[in-house]
Amino acid sequence: MTFLENLGMNRLQSDNLYCSVLSHDLRQTGEGSEFSVNSPINGMEVARFRNATPAQLEQVITTATAAFKTFRTVPAPVRGELVRRIGNIAREHKEDLARVITLESGKIMAEALGEVQEWIDVCDFAVGLSRQLHGKTIVSERPGHRMMEQWQPLGPVAVITAFNFPMAVWAWNTMIGLVCGDAMVLKPSEKAPLCALACQAVVEKALDTMPEIPRGIASVIIGDREIGQLIAQDTRFPLVSATGSTLMGRSVAETVGARLGRSLLELGGNNAMIVSETADLDLALRAIVFSAAGTAGQRCTTLRRLITHRSVQDDLVERIKRSYASLAIGDPGTEGNLVGPLIDKHSFDAMQSALDAAKQQGGEILFGGERVTEGVPDGGYYVRPAIVSIRHDAPVVHQETFAPILYVLSFDTLDEAIDIQNEVPQGLSSAIFTESMREAEQFLSAAGSDCGIANVNIGTSGAEIGGAFGGEKETGGGRESGSDAWKAYMRRSTNTINYGGELPLAQGIVFE
Ligand code: NAD
Repeated sequence: MTFLENLGMNRLQSDNLYCSVLSHDLRQTGEGSEFSVNSPINGMEVARFRNATPAQLEQVITTATAAFKTFRTVPAPVRGELVRRIGNIAREHKEDLARVITLESGKIMAEALGEVQEWIDVCDFAVGLSRQLHGKTIVSERPGHRMMEQWQPLGPVAVITAFNFPMAVWAWNTMIGLVCGDAMVLKPSEKAPLCALACQAVVEKALDTMPEIPRGIASVIIGDREIGQLIAQDTRFPLVSATGSTLMGRSVAETVGARLGRSLLELGGNNAMIVSETADLDLALRAIVFSAAGTAGQRCTTLRRLITHRSVQDDLVERIKRSYASLAIGDPGTEGNLVGPLIDKHSFDAMQSALDAAKQQGGEILFGGERVTEGVPDGGYYVRPAIVSIRHDAPVVHQETFAPILYVLSFDTLDEAIDIQNEVPQGLSSAIFTESMREAEQFLSAAGSDCGIANVNIGTSGAEIGGAFGGEKETGGGRESGSDAWKAYMRRSTNTINYGGELPLAQGIVFE
């Protein structure tokens, strides 16, 4: 695995056991229970780790807290310069980084390269942002007074990530958090810790070139959900940003909420596309296949519900079936393959249970769903993406199954389609395909999609970093990446300055 060595990760390795506690000056093997990381490509062990212990977490938090005290006073454009260098190193190692993603998450190389590009893009965004952390000036009701807002660094921020975007989600949080002046602590998914070490290696290379920046501003702690809960409990993290299942988010939100901390939640989706009778079906088809089958259905924004006008449904489903039949399924490291493996057996079992439930609830499997064993590496869980025709209100349709199952639902009127789109508990991404301006505007209106992302003539997945990313309802309400998502990583201070010689009170109160 020369790509790991190219990233400087060989120095962390002894007998395939990697460090679990890492910041620039801290490099320790975990002292808790041992676990292996197996590649979804073929089930082979690629690394071993030991979970960090609470005492080791304490050390990481102490390091981050001390680093924050200095870092918060480093001018934001200098923090931006650090992020610019991180982005340049990520550019230089784009392919090496993508290979680590493919190895651990099973994503095809084209998508893994896209994920690293997302990291690079958010660096560029963050560098510009480092000169634009603007507050407002506000007129005062009192003579001789001025009011203003300042945005100040928040503190050490914890980032808990999911397996499916092991670098991009960290980058959305960390590149923005760094320019905001926060010390960032990553607890990655147990399924993708090598990606976390690769990210850390890049940050450390950049830190080596800027000795004026405190070393402890970026650290990694490898641990399971117990370490995740200890992070959530710790008052030294004013913000815990957590990406993963709704089950996880509920638990993190309860723990952080109990101490009145802030959580930024990016949780499960159950994304839908409405295809109207006026839609350009060629365009819709391409969007459907990428959104539903890409990343083997393991994106939070994966298209899971296709709500089609009854008049176009048969034609559209036939086209999707033909397109699915030609999708190359196999080793994600081999060029030309478009669908890689599911992350593990648990995920395969969950997909099969959902398909069984769909049949019991009156659904019909129109295509796929089975394990593919020919022409793929042994030991991986490769599946043919499934298409299922079913009632919109079947209980299984309202759950997120993290696998490529596309439920096909029908509608007659747009009002009905929007009701179906909004009736699930999740609210991440949504789309409409239509050539009608009226339909598009209704979908985007206050009475339209209730999701954090609503698109017209574009699929549900593949967001750009310039927008704020996130969703409503059980998706958790968080927003990350572009637009004004940076405000979550800072604290707002409202300042009133009296430059006169009197002390008038607000609201005209007289107190003498
Ligand atoms: P997961 O919930 O199993 O794990 C995510 C992370 O949370 C891991 O680091 C895990 O160790 C940690 N964790 C789990 N339980 C915890 C607890 N009780 N307290 C603290 N930490 C805990 O998710 P996964 O299987 O890795 O990822 C798939 C899920 O993530 C899907 O539901 C997907 O939709 C969601 N996801 C959402 C977004 C988004 O931006 N909305 C992005 C990517 C993935």
